[in-house]
Amino acid sequence: THFGFKTINAEEKETMVKSVFDAVASKYDVMNDAMSLGIHRLWKDEFMNTLNPVPGSHLLDVAGGTGKEEEKIKEQSDISFRFIDKIKSNPYYLPNPHPGQLSSTASLSSSAIVYDINQAMLDEGQKRAIQNGYTKTSDPSIDFIQGNSEQLPFEDESFNCYTISFGIRNCTNIDVVLKEAYRVLKKGGRFMCLEFSQIPNPALRFAYDQYSFNVIPILGQMIAGDRESYQYLVESIRKFPTQDNFAGMIRQAGFKQVTYKNLSFGICAIHSGWKL
Ligand code: SAM
Repeated sequence: THFGFKTINAEEKETMVKSVFDAVASKYDVMNDAMSLGIHRLWKDEFMNTLNPVPGSHLLDVAGGTGKEEEKIKEQSDISFRFIDKIKSNPYYLPNPHPGQLSSTASLSSSAIVYDINQAMLDEGQKRAIQNGYTKTSDPSIDFIQGNSEQLPFEDESFNCYTISFGIRNCTNIDVVLKEAYRVLKKGGRFMCLEFSQIPNPALRFAYDQYSFNVIPILGQMIAGDRESYQYLVESIRKFPTQDNFAGMIRQAGFKQVTYKNLSFGICAIHSGWKL
């Protein structure tokens, strides 16, 4: 146990994760803003700037479900929308006039698949995609598919990019998730993960622990009416491997040129690896 929280087994963890995200789907982004003071948006921007996808890229965003957001920030919601915005801002971007078919012009279709175990989290994202004019036949296209990150319903070598943002921590067998990521990526494809991490500086880590163990469960109670779920989230962050250990796991799955970058003193980290 850590700070008096009980340790849970794998099965309990799966049930817990499911109920956490069922409970928080509609308050998800509000809670993220409250907990991180809005900084999670900057982390996601940095993540997409690092990935820097080019037109013609096909993304699989795993654990990509999302909750409701305020009207004004709809376009900047999550990884797949940022991916599309980034591609559209590329000077070589040319929309395909006939989505779904090879184009006679220099245009290349791009696509994103948002994949999540929780249908409620997917439904929110899909509503927002349609509001923004994206469907599975538009270009760029977005599709929403439900399933477990440990068993992807896609063929080998299907995607150029695999992203998982604040999702891998909740998965039961991280090594299986990484193996699946490796399998579905094309050669030359890139794995990128954004996740809460461990602050290396002891004084900062102490301050952060005080905040997360004392303040976050109370925010969870006040905003989402759910203290337990947020206690669980805090606990799961502390149990996640350090940056170096996680980089080792990514290498173990077969990825090359594995690197990471700390964000906000290591509150978060971006890990990257290539299938070469
Ligand atoms: N990627 C989004 C973001 O960055 O804001 C959402 C992250 S949210 C904290 C975690 C998501 O992981 C939830 O939508 C949850 O349903 C999903 N999830 C948890 N376990 C999963 C699994 N085994 N397979 C696929 N998705 C999973």
